Order: sequence, then structure tokens, then C-alpha cells
Amino acid sequence: MKGAPDRILLIEDNPMNLELATDLLEAAGFKVMSAQTGEAGIKLAREMQPALILMDLSLPGMDGIEATRALKSDARTRSIPVVAVTAHAMKGDEQKALAAGCEGYVTKPIDTRTFCTVVREHLERGSSRKEGKGI
Ligand code: MN
Repeated sequence: MKGAPDRILLIEDNPMNLELATDLLEAAGFKVMSAQTGEAGIKLAREMQPALILMDLSLPGMDGIEATRALKSDARTRSIPVVAVTAHAMKGDEQKALAAGCEGYVTKPIDTRTFCTVVREHLERGSSRKEGKGI
């Protein structure tokens, strides 16, 4: 398997959200890298092969839906699970995220008690998919 199993890529343009998510993930033992635009995130994903991508949907320029479509249409990044991070108020975004190829979503504001558990569940599902165990 390519990439480190504990490396997470955060694509998030809001510095406070980015800091909170980074702190939570690092405290849980993950290695975190981040990008503040979809374009930069796609480049990092290709180079670093993270185990999971957390994708803010509302980004300047290319939004999270477009960035997910680009990741899923590229053989180098297609197998990396993408979890959308959606603002609670934006109903309908979840369906758009799943249609674009996201494996799931978490809503903002981030629930600090469950965030890392959700990330771990998606990581485990992602690795069993790659090993051909089904969903
Ligand atoms: Mn945003």
C-alpha cells in the first residue's frame, strides 16, 4: 500500500477550523498536512499519498466538490478516501458530496468528542476496501 497509514490531509481555508482539526488529529496520533485551496490540496495528495483526505466543501476558487471530482478522476488519487466537511446549515451539500465521490461527511462545527472516531472509522473502511474485503 502506498502512503503512510496515519497521514491525513486537511483541505480547509478557515485558519481556526484548520487549527482545531489539526490539534484534534495530532493529539490522536495522526500526522497531519494541510492545504488551504483545492488546487494545492490535489497537488499534495498526488505527492504525499495520504491515507485520508478531509475536504472542506466551501473553498475559494475550486470548491470541495470540484476538488473531490478531480481527485476521483485521477488514477493517482482515486483510491484515497475523501470525507467532506460541510457547514451544518448547508443542507443538500451532503448529497452533492456523496455524488462527487466522497465516502462520507462530517458537519461543522466539528464535534470535538467524536471527530477522531469518525476519521478512524473512515480510515478502516478505506483500508478494507483496498484489501478487497468489500465495504
Ligand atoms: Mn471554507
